[in-house]
Amino acid sequence: MTTTHITNARVFDGHTLLDATTVTLDDQTITAVGAPTAPDGAETVDARGGTLMPGLIDAHVHTSIDSLREALKFGVTTELEMQGYWTPEQRTEINADDTIADVRSALIALMAKGGHPSELMEGLGEHDPRAGEHEGWVMPSAATPDEARAHVQAFAKAGSDYIKVMIEEGTAMGHPGLPVLDMETIKAAVDEAHKLGLKVIAHAITLDATRQALDAGADGLAHLFIDQKADERIVNALADADVFVTPCLVVSSSLIGHDAAHIADDPRVASRLPQVWLDTLRGRFNTFPQGNLQHVLDSVAALHAAGVDILAGTDAAIPVPSHGGVAHGASVHHELALLVQAGLPNEAALAAATSVPARCFNLADRGRIAPGLRADLLLVDGNPLKEISHSLDINTIWRRGGRATNTDGPVSVP
Ligand SMILES: [Zn+2]
Repeated sequence: MTTTHITNARVFDGHTLLDATTVTLDDQTITAVGAPTAPDGAETVDARGGTLMPGLIDAHVHTSIDSLREALKFGVTTELEMQGYWTPEQRTEINADDTIADVRSALIALMAKGGHPSELMEGLGEHDPRAGEHEGWVMPSAATPDEARAHVQAFAKAGSDYIKVMIEEGTAMGHPGLPVLDMETIKAAVDEAHKLGLKVIAHAITLDATRQALDAGADGLAHLFIDQKADERIVNALADADVFVTPCLVVSSSLIGHDAAHIADDPRVASRLPQVWLDTLRGRFNTFPQGNLQHVLDSVAALHAAGVDILAGTDAAIPVPSHGGVAHGASVHHELALLVQAGLPNEAALAAATSVPARCFNLADRGRIAPGLRADLLLVDGNPLKEISHSLDINTIWRRGGRATNTDGPVSVP
């Protein structure tokens, strides 16, 4: 059992900057904030004026053990799987492995037969996430309300932490005319999930799909529509319904045709990521070049102003440049920069990657710095509350109180 006393820190608790300059960790837990002296036998870590914040949460990924390792190198201590694996049994080892990020999962989303995301799986070969250790999993699909209810029941039983529903007819993905779920089927899934106490997160990339998600009673959006700018009507409707939004600006930018080469070129990223992921950052989807990223940024600003919860998510998935512009861990920092570019105050952007996703996903043990919480922490040099790019000036990462890594030169996770 190790006790750590961090001193001389600027402490951002997930909501706001505190007056305190010390945080004490005992074993896996934060035990004190602002204690004037170190407990007996504690290791003291001098933050030298750097900023200590909760470990980051990426609220939209499709992950693997390797990707969870990449994520942790960038201070992302929890990833939220939005279509993939990681039942509670499969993740017992993940939860206990302090060299990789922790994970929660929707398991497999409700989708139409032959609908999204099957168009993304074409021609991926060895990168097909259905292959390998998860061979034998099938992509279930639903066509009727009864099938939707059965899907939700089955995945709730398998351990889904929340239910994901795909509302995608393909235009923004470069595959117009994909099969879709009808409203009755989507509603049946949402109602069943709510009966079982699970939140529903909807994939919706167009305004029409977003309206459907709202009408069906979804709790959160896994993207923000990119086909038009938000008008007052949709902003008010999302605010009134208390729907949270994970805009995934990094992947929206990629869909619209922008790569993330500037992130790959950043030495703080290049030193930590393998070549295949740097190549992926330099790639892009480019399936909706008629889109306008500034419109999406304006929509985020309008939603934030209306009080809608905004969460940082990336949609990071597999290392394939045609699905590029996004990488685990690194892209959370890109997302923070885009949220600030959209007009969110730096504190709100940092909250979007810490306390807000923790609240929206009922992760009561993390996402904030307070006594009794899990000791997932990120110490960066500088002050991301003033200059958001300082979030990448990573000094030390703690996962459950253990030092995951520190970064004198290229990171090596033991
Ligand atoms: Zn996704």
